[in-house]
Amino acid sequence: MSFSNPHPRLTWSQRLASAVGATGLLILVVAWSGIEFAHAGFWLAASLLLLATGTVWFAFATYRGHPAGIKNNGVWFNLLTNRGIWGWCLGIIITGLYILLYFYPGLLGLRPEGPNTGLIGVFDLLSFWLKGKPGGQWFVYGTLYTLAILIFGVKFIWKYRHNRYQIIRTISVMFFQLCLAFLLPELMDRLNQPSMDLKNMWPLNYYFFFDWNLDKLLKDGNLGLFLFGWGLVMILVVSPVLTYFFGKRWYCSWVCGCGGLAETAGDPFRHLSSKTLQAWKIERWLIYGVLVFAVIMTFLVIYTYMTGRDSILFINSYVIREWYGFFIGAIFSGVVGVGFYPILGSRVWCRFGCPMAAILGLQQKFFSRFRITTNGGQCISCGNCSTYCEMGIDVRWYAQRGQNVVRASCVGCGICAAVCPRGVLRLENGKVDINQRTDELRTIHVRLEDVTVNR
Ligand code: SF4
Ligand code: SF4
Repeated sequence: MSFSNPHPRLTWSQRLASAVGATGLLILVVAWSGIEFAHAGFWLAASLLLLATGTVWFAFATYRGHPAGIKNNGVWFNLLTNRGIWGWCLGIIITGLYILLYFYPGLLGLRPEGPNTGLIGVFDLLSFWLKGKPGGQWFVYGTLYTLAILIFGVKFIWKYRHNRYQIIRTISVMFFQLCLAFLLPELMDRLNQPSMDLKNMWPLNYYFFFDWNLDKLLKDGNLGLFLFGWGLVMILVVSPVLTYFFGKRWYCSWVCGCGGLAETAGDPFRHLSSKTLQAWKIERWLIYGVLVFAVIMTFLVIYTYMTGRDSILFINSYVIREWYGFFIGAIFSGVVGVGFYPILGSRVWCRFGCPMAAILGLQQKFFSRFRITTNGGQCISCGNCSTYCEMGIDVRWYAQRGQNVVRASCVGCGICAAVCPRGVLRLENGKVDINQRTDELRTIHVRLEDVTVNR
């Protein structure tokens, strides 16, 4: 009976871990309510430490003592992970927080005219320590975002510890988020030097060509020029070359912060992505629509920068960039992109909206060595691969037919291969002869003298 129990109870260790994490969260909520702490630095450190300890402890308590292998038992029976009441509550809370971040930072304690208060005020201590000045809502966001990738990254590594690919790529996203996206820009800011997230390239970094950014980079001496050149080289050279060799996974699953959060904090929700043909259709319309929007907006922005004219044929470049910033930069990538994890799965933004994923995907589909090879004869049609594909790809459909999976949307996370009980799927960066090689691998060679023909 206990094996089929769809409502397993939490162990005492898991309950204690939850209490520790909840205490950390409670301290942040108290700070947000406006109650001033006597030693704010101590309470901030305590809350972040408790949050991290509670999460990691819970993960260890959950997976300790179990044999190696993916443990997704009960995800469809859990009210948090099956779009149940807790899933909806979490979705609404995260969405609400994003709305406050983008549109009402004053309610989080941002005070442009004086010292910040509330939640942002507590994080100011860390901001002073790191960059020598008060932070704002984006500093709070960056800190919590990075912390989430780190602590859920540890959980992910522990859960998938039998799989070397998952361990290495998770360490990679943790490193890029902590060092390149968070620490380096803050430290450069402290030194009054121009800074940017070195891995965040256009069109994901949609304001790279905005006049204020170009002015900042081009007028900030050699370092600014270097950063401008770096951005161009990333777009024109590094990205196409790496995508040719490794597919879009080098970025979407190894480097990008959006992918990093989806893979770590979003892991419990990966099975919620829709696998229907209708969803695939919507995905293509939306993601390429956003890409076209990004290209047109950037063209207008550069036109305005070069000529000083605001409009072409009555289309105002400032209005277009405002629309893009609001609808795509804030609503789609932030509010929907993360807030809807518990409802639509962990890669809503990567699958339906990211223009960077759209470009890399086109290249992956038509000019890349990357593909997932399938050994169809071994497939038992269990459907694990399709269920846990966060990009909504029906991997089983390919596996049953022994076809390679070459899809623009595949982010190369490798989970389909990791959850396959028969070792059917392999992520490969083969040369052009890969089809021939995989055919040879599937072929059983028998010596002629071992064959007997009964007539
Ligand atoms: S097909 Fe496999 S590797 Fe690609 S996104 Fe889906 S689960 Fe990840
Ligand atoms: S997980 Fe493996 S065995 Fe199951 S359907 Fe997918 S390819 Fe086939």
